[in-house]
Amino acid sequence: MAILLNGIGVSPGIAIGPVHLLSRGTPEIAHYCITEGELGGETERFRRAVHETAAQLRALRSSYPTDTPGEVAAFIDAHLLMLEDRLITDATIEIIRRERCNAEWALKIQGDRLTALFDEMEDPYLRTRRDDVEHIIHRIQRMLLGQEPDHLETPADLRNHIVVTSELGPEEIALIAQSRVSGIITEVGGPNSHSAILARSLNLPAVVGLHEAQRMLRQGEQVILDGTVGMVIAGADGRIVPRFRERQRVQRRRRRMLAELRDEPAVTLDGERITLLANIELEDDLRVAREMGAEGIGLYRTEFLYINRSTPPGEEEQLHVYRRVQRALRGKPVTIRTLDLGGDKEFSAGEPVSAVNPALGLRAIRRCLKQPEIFLPQLRAILRASASGPVRLMLPMLTTIEEAEQALTLIQLAKQDLAHERLGFDPDMPVGGMIEIPAAALVAGNFAKRLDFLSVGTNDLIQYTMAIDRTDEEVNYLYDPANPAVLQLIRLILRAGHRTQTPVAMCGEMAGDLRYTRLLLGLGLREFSMRPAMLPEVKSIIHTTSAGEIRARCNAILRAPAATHIERLIDALNTGIEN
Ligand code: PEP
Ligand code: MG
Repeated sequence: MAILLNGIGVSPGIAIGPVHLLSRGTPEIAHYCITEGELGGETERFRRAVHETAAQLRALRSSYPTDTPGEVAAFIDAHLLMLEDRLITDATIEIIRRERCNAEWALKIQGDRLTALFDEMEDPYLRTRRDDVEHIIHRIQRMLLGQEPDHLETPADLRNHIVVTSELGPEEIALIAQSRVSGIITEVGGPNSHSAILARSLNLPAVVGLHEAQRMLRQGEQVILDGTVGMVIAGADGRIVPRFRERQRVQRRRRRMLAELRDEPAVTLDGERITLLANIELEDDLRVAREMGAEGIGLYRTEFLYINRSTPPGEEEQLHVYRRVQRALRGKPVTIRTLDLGGDKEFSAGEPVSAVNPALGLRAIRRCLKQPEIFLPQLRAILRASASGPVRLMLPMLTTIEEAEQALTLIQLAKQDLAHERLGFDPDMPVGGMIEIPAAALVAGNFAKRLDFLSVGTNDLIQYTMAIDRTDEEVNYLYDPANPAVLQLIRLILRAGHRTQTPVAMCGEMAGDLRYTRLLLGLGLREFSMRPAMLPEVKSIIHTTSAGEIRARCNAILRAPAATHIERLIDALNTGIEN
């Protein structure tokens, strides 16, 4: 009988093949006390284990084939950096000394502390970094225990198999990168876990977070994996498999068709030219953005340069990164969003900020205006980057026009200083603002008159319009782009841009949500910025839509009073049914 298992689909596509279980258990850790006289020896044993672990990781990295994607080596680099982190090294030595316990146990205490900290984080990207910490702790523990890592499988064993494992560590990654596996299933992890990133970069269908997969699936049994919906079917009979094989063929054909659109401009049936840009967080995202045919970057979230470290990056360090991004873009524009820090996104030794309600607190531009010592180096770095390629600066979370004015004054001051110091910048670098708070959306015209462009941040616009925390699963059901109030605000912003001839983009998740592409075109959106993987699909909808023809119908949709009604009308719009 077929069994159906559900996890999180993180890399699309269907894979059909036999299971290969890759085992790697959690090491058993004993607790014993040591005497004062043994302290020196125990801390030395720990230091040696850390050192040997680093050597082992470096050896593993150099064993990767040369055509391995950059992301794969980046995993190892991230783990190597963690081995140098004082929260792992010094803190563990401190516990050995204080508790007079063995190194493995001290490491377990510190590991539990760190993973608990990660569990409390609201940012899903940071939360998944917990798996890395756990992985590195287990690796040092195994080194202390004298257990060699598993090297049992060879790439040939995995060929055409669906790999099932608890999580992907460097050994598994090395193996998978060298093998022709057909899919990946992991027990832990989320959309931003390393397993997910790796699967997407290798174009392998993958399901993560499928708890107990190693217990439920047997070595060698055939399974069907659907990475689009996050489903795994084991024990499928002769009627189900051919159906999935057919879907697999259809999906492959569609992928090939979409790949062919890569270098085509996005133009509607009635000749409207639409700009398709990518959102990026890490430099690695640039490769996917390029592969998917992005015309530039519409949102570069710079907070990832600031978190997970004790001091903010200085002007020169940022300038270096921005220039690397520009080089990778080869003349295409990049929209650098200034720091959206606060709440859950924090650099370790940052000033304590208001914690009453982080989402409503000292976040983003509010925080930057209060801490010019952090803001100014970033403004200067962005301005200096504008000398070497097209750069747009974007201010996040504007609430009042005064905030925009203050930021513009600081930018002006930074320009004067740079000119005085004879450092180059583009004097006409466009400065725009994100409209993601209803107070700003309602007077978007004021912002449009003062700024060079606007960009709708629907992720926050929805959360603040609906009065829900976007990370709170209890009230997720209210998080709905089709809510009439949200749509009215979006239309207001688009109209304000139109009236003042100020370009309006959208960079929230809604811009890459295929359900809304047509509606947004009909409402007048002409610049979309999204997760790079969504670009080809959105482009194919643009190619089959006549923006002028659906304009009246889209405006009429907004008159419906309930989201459920609006969704039905959007479905009809998308399937071409007249209503
Ligand atoms: C948004 O709010 O829509 C947005 C793009 O910004 P972020 O998700 O980084 O807050
Ligand atoms: Mg936002």
